[in-house]
Amino acid sequence: MVPEKPVPPTEYDYLIVGGGAAGLSLAYHISQEPALASKRVLVLEPEAKTQNDRTWSFWADEPLLFDGIVAHEWEQLAFRSPQFERVFSLRRHRYKMIRGLDFYQFVHAALARSPQVTCLQASVTDLAEVEGVGVRSTTAAGEFTARYAFDSRPPELNEARQPRKHRYLLQHFVGWEVETDEDAFDPATVEFMDFRGAQHHEARFIYVLPFSRRKALVEYTLFSAEVLPKAEYEAEIRRYLHEQLGVGTFRIEAEEVGAIPMTDHPLAARAGNHIINLGTRAGRAKPSTGYAFKRIQAHSARLVAGLAATGHPPQDLTGDQWQFHLFDTLLLDIMQRQGERTRDIFTELFQRNPVERIFDFLDERTSWKENFQIMNSVTPWPFLRSIGHVVRGRPGAR
Ligand SMILES: Cc1cc2nc3c(=O)[nH]c(=O)nc-3n(C[C@H](O)[C@H](O)[C@H](O)COP(=O)(O)OP(=O)(O)OC[C@H]3O[C@@H](n4cnc5c(N)ncnc54)[C@H](O)[C@@H]3O)c2cc1C
Repeated sequence: MVPEKPVPPTEYDYLIVGGGAAGLSLAYHISQEPALASKRVLVLEPEAKTQNDRTWSFWADEPLLFDGIVAHEWEQLAFRSPQFERVFSLRRHRYKMIRGLDFYQFVHAALARSPQVTCLQASVTDLAEVEGVGVRSTTAAGEFTARYAFDSRPPELNEARQPRKHRYLLQHFVGWEVETDEDAFDPATVEFMDFRGAQHHEARFIYVLPFSRRKALVEYTLFSAEVLPKAEYEAEIRRYLHEQLGVGTFRIEAEEVGAIPMTDHPLAARAGNHIINLGTRAGRAKPSTGYAFKRIQAHSARLVAGLAATGHPPQDLTGDQWQFHLFDTLLLDIMQRQGERTRDIFTELFQRNPVERIFDFLDERTSWKENFQIMNSVTPWPFLRSIGHVVRGRPGAR
């Protein structure tokens, strides 16, 4: 006889909707906080998460809860454009990479050992606030209630788009993990942005994470409104390997494809008093770069600190500061109306600032003085025009 699956209870303290980067990060942060050990958590995720569907890279100068599963880290980083090239030695930071599958397996294993967390493979079809209870989620496996829900389902931006008010771009890419027959890569140096290829009035660059002299993840990345036919990304990766690195033959061992929203469309941090948004849904993908993993960790830590201290999520859910939102919007505005200027802006930034200051700025932790130094290092006219667009409430267009 097949043993019956245990039926999960229907009442919890916290529901986590979506067990991707943000949902699993929050569940793990909660499981590591002794003050929340008595809280019952249900994670609802439709996928088994057994594929290596993405690779998260980020710079960091402080320990993260997931340092134990960092697959590679680098101490040097290169920036290249036709006018300027430099390899920077990172002093305070390290550039790190975590494989998606390692992350899913690590968190699932930790949660399986934690008596407070239940994971259920189910899709949430409805999530609503219920007076006196908190929230109720509906799934094919039944209804579940809790005091708070944390919702990380991908935002549905298509229907809500307001192109006359906001800017909509994507960070989109195809990446190949390749193995070459001869030495081709410098394993100490991440190729952060190589803008030497044609720009086609957009921002287009090659990004390389080298794992050894013969193995690397090579990605063709764009900041623009529309994805390309797949063959175009592939042709550009081939061109880079053959023409820029002189690689003869190579084998493709894995592929990564993605499109991350880069937008100033308001992505609310909450959907009600008891429904808190997470991840991309809560605007945790940085609008001007698409980087999200570290922002997701900071968000999880902030929510857990609030829950542990007061029993409730913090009033200010994200800690976002308006001036960085404005900088993101200005850069998006320039990218939208004159994408090819992006290369010049990043060139000036890397030419005239220590890389640590650029990282701190993108991490939104620079002082007003450092923000001034950053803004003073780039040609002002495109930014002044975009300030005009922001003041008039009309995004710039080509
Ligand atoms: C290929 C790729 C590479 C990336 N690389 C980087 C990087 O190097 N560095 C970086 O900082 N950021 C990177 N990002 C951006 C960002 O970190 C990731 O998109 C990250 O996964 C976002 O986390 P999330 O939890 O918001 O979304 P996801 O991780 O996508 O999780 C959302 C989850 O919700 C689930 N879900 C969907 N519908 C339902 C439903 N109805 N009910 C319940 N669950 C549901 C999904 O199955 C999914 O598991 C990358 C993104 C992609 C796509």
